[in-house]
Amino acid sequence: MKGREVTGLIGNTKRTFSFKQCASYSVDGLRETIQALMEPFYDELHAIKHGDRVLLKPNLLSGHPPQDAVTTHPLFVEAVLQFFIDHGAKLLIGDSPSPVFKDIDKIFSVTGLFSLGKRYDIPLVHFDKSGWNKKEVDHRAYPIAGIIDRVDFVINLPKVKTHTLTALTLGVKNMYGVVPGFTKTLLHKEYPNAIDFSEITLDIYHLAKPLLTIYDGIIGMEGEGPAAGEPVSLGFAAATNDALATDIVLSHLLGLEKRKFPLYLAAMRRGYEPDKKLSFSGDALESFQKRNIRFPRTNQLNFIPPFLTKTIGTQVWARPRIITRKCTNCGKCVEACPASAIEKGVVRPLFNYARCINCFCCIEICPHRSVEIKVSPLVKIGMML
Ligand code: SF4
Ligand code: SF4
Repeated sequence: MKGREVTGLIGNTKRTFSFKQCASYSVDGLRETIQALMEPFYDELHAIKHGDRVLLKPNLLSGHPPQDAVTTHPLFVEAVLQFFIDHGAKLLIGDSPSPVFKDIDKIFSVTGLFSLGKRYDIPLVHFDKSGWNKKEVDHRAYPIAGIIDRVDFVINLPKVKTHTLTALTLGVKNMYGVVPGFTKTLLHKEYPNAIDFSEITLDIYHLAKPLLTIYDGIIGMEGEGPAAGEPVSLGFAAATNDALATDIVLSHLLGLEKRKFPLYLAAMRRGYEPDKKLSFSGDALESFQKRNIRFPRTNQLNFIPPFLTKTIGTQVWARPRIITRKCTNCGKCVEACPASAIEKGVVRPLFNYARCINCFCCIEICPHRSVEIKVSPLVKIGMML
């Protein structure tokens, strides 16, 4: 992959953040927006030669229709792909959604990418079927989808959403999709703490090294994201060659304090410089009205001081709970749980909370939004502070 020679993880090149307000997914408006966002990335675009293979990596998660705001909007992907086709690139689109969804064609179809691929004659790649290579960073090894090594560049296309474990899922977290299959789930089990897990996402981002990250923040998600929250109009698109620093800026725009963003704390712990200055381009951030979106209630749990955990730990909890009337007993959450904390029941699945590691994969995976979070009274009080 040529991307590694062009731009560093946390950037040896000039770190740039390009920002445009954009109210809707209109085809013409999006085309102009993407064009404007790309203006400052002369070096990156210059590196892409005619015929280079460029992989677009949207967020497909578990296959929801575009109006649910779970996945990168197909019209957004289309505007990006038109830009890179005009640039002479040979495109592919791919992701590795949750392994409990075996029918990848259905996911491509529901998310609107199947028809996009067909119209533009672009191959759709399921990362899990592309093999994998073991890669190391800081003495930690991860399996990374083989397709990453067989393309020249990766363009990261995250959807701006809240996340029950990591507070937000933005550019860095979106690259977690290059970890194929159930390893994604197993890493949740190995690193259940939000800050530890965010360190893992930083490693993966480093290894996948997208050339550029282009954020779909036109309609994002608030509440219990990344799948069970509500769509929220955010009205922007952004692009960067440094997703870490840009994720931090965006978290601020969305109303999350840095000290409550696990990715920021993980980056500090790893000795990165997430606060290092970015050069800005596009619409002035001051003209964008800061959005205070609703964050998942679980976020509070990540920041309980250790001394309090010892004394009142048993009274501070958040648990997944089934909404029985919505549950079809499909068993997907049973399959997805990395801690084997869910058993198939006669009417609905049953939780074993003694085993639960609070990864909330069950909420993320449920196709019917029938898992919710119940928090203890103390957490409720903490949320009001
Ligand atoms: S909670 Fe959701 S994923 Fe689990 S069995 Fe019910 S419908 Fe399926
Ligand atoms: S029950 Fe849900 S939150 Fe608990 S470990 Fe399993 S998937 Fe994670």
